[in-house]
Amino acid sequence: MEHKDEIRRRHLPSSLLGPLDQAHGIVSEIFAKACINELFWKVEPIEIKVIPVYPRNHINFNQCVGGAFYRTDMAERAQQGAHQAGLPGAEVAVEPDHHPRSQQGRQMAAKLGGRGIVCEVQADSRLVIIAAMQEGNSQTGATASLADGQGAYAAVAQKIKDWGEELGFAAIGIARADVSAAAPWLLRWLALGRHGEMDYMAKHAALRAAPPLLLPGALSVISARLTYWPAAANAQRVLDDADLAYVSRYALGRDYHKTVRQRLKKLADRLSQEAATLDLAEPFACRVFSDSAPVMETDFARQAGTTWRGKHTLSLTREGSWHFLGEIYSTLPLPADTPIADHCGDCRRCLDACPTAAIVAPYEVDARLCISYLTIELHGSIPLALRPLIGNRIYGCDDCQLCCPWNRFAQIGDPDFAVRNGLDATPLTTLFAWSEADFNSRLAGSPIRRIGHLRWLRNIAVALGNAPHSPAVIAALSTRQDDPSPMLREHVAWALAQHRPAAG
Ligand code: SF4
Ligand code: SF4
Repeated sequence: MEHKDEIRRRHLPSSLLGPLDQAHGIVSEIFAKACINELFWKVEPIEIKVIPVYPRNHINFNQCVGGAFYRTDMAERAQQGAHQAGLPGAEVAVEPDHHPRSQQGRQMAAKLGGRGIVCEVQADSRLVIIAAMQEGNSQTGATASLADGQGAYAAVAQKIKDWGEELGFAAIGIARADVSAAAPWLLRWLALGRHGEMDYMAKHAALRAAPPLLLPGALSVISARLTYWPAAANAQRVLDDADLAYVSRYALGRDYHKTVRQRLKKLADRLSQEAATLDLAEPFACRVFSDSAPVMETDFARQAGTTWRGKHTLSLTREGSWHFLGEIYSTLPLPADTPIADHCGDCRRCLDACPTAAIVAPYEVDARLCISYLTIELHGSIPLALRPLIGNRIYGCDDCQLCCPWNRFAQIGDPDFAVRNGLDATPLTTLFAWSEADFNSRLAGSPIRRIGHLRWLRNIAVALGNAPHSPAVIAALSTRQDDPSPMLREHVAWALAQHRPAAG
């Protein structure tokens, strides 16, 4: 290892460990055992960047993680792992990051909070995100007050909020480009396999947990919220009528990716113009995200004080949860807003209302059980045991939101998300008759289109299997029992079998 002198294994009072304090058990379980060990045994190179902000500061790893990086032990274990795997050897390289923007960012983080992340350890394809914290009482004067970070940037932040309001956003907040508090939860969720077949979640975990990998020099995140609750047929009445198809409220109208992105782009353009008037040491850069890249959007919204994370894991406000989130990563050191309190209290309605018990504990969802995952993300066969629980939900599920007391205060959202194609109350048999051409033309511009015609039919077949027995349902299913797709044939056969006792 190089730069040995800059790495110390040192136990600190936990108050210096910032957000990772709250996740010690998780960090210990996931980083030190599942992830780090797995990494060694696979013996792939890890790049560790040590960013020397202040020469006399110690760089202190969280002790749970630091143990794994105790240099002699780490080097030995890496070599052992390599030999056991039949590989020629293992190497750990430590490289200082001299990029001036990185230094600028760390200095600003220190100014704003009195402590901040000064070191990041990242591996693009591994589940390794390790942050080390800077001491709050640095000998080199990193204790400047919050007020020092305000002024010109605070004025820019206020302008961003005003522009956001003009563009129709319900709220705009600002967070630091730091997800070190939430990253351990993501890693734990992945390590438990709760992402199911969403391999991209694991593949891009490092990008999700390290904003500078998506925008070098990222210092702040502008989090935007856009409401979508549509004027539509009563959701509960549709759920109660098993002949009708239930489509998640967010998908009844226009694809939110486009709407949110277009508006964020306008906001980013205004910000770029504003940044040109500032005396910046580094060129300004920003990047817009609308559920289009690995971004921890719920955590940024929480940090930015526009939402809290409900027990169903969705972002939530006193005006409800029917909203989309979007983000702008920026290299400007904008002052972060204050998070709002969690107002879930003793409520557990969402846990009790979930048809498949996918909310396995408060703030924890196992996607493999979630109807939204089963009907949207899952490509293959829907597990037999879960099919009867899906009811008539053919695209997504809203039960954990429909029951939430805060959604009683929801107002009709942005007109861009008004219902199209009567999708709020259409018979299952009608939708099952759509050809692929019908599907593609009628759902042009809808988020539903991305699941494709085959999965659309798969989902409707399950719902028809759960529908009341009728000649119309049997006739509809029969039209597709010889479909070329083995997966669809199997789902149709299952659905027809559900009707046999009633038919016999
Ligand atoms: S979307 Fe539906 S299945 Fe998923 S957690 Fe919420 S209630 Fe449960
Ligand atoms: S239903 Fe209750 S517990 Fe669940 S998110 Fe809403 S307020 Fe929180």
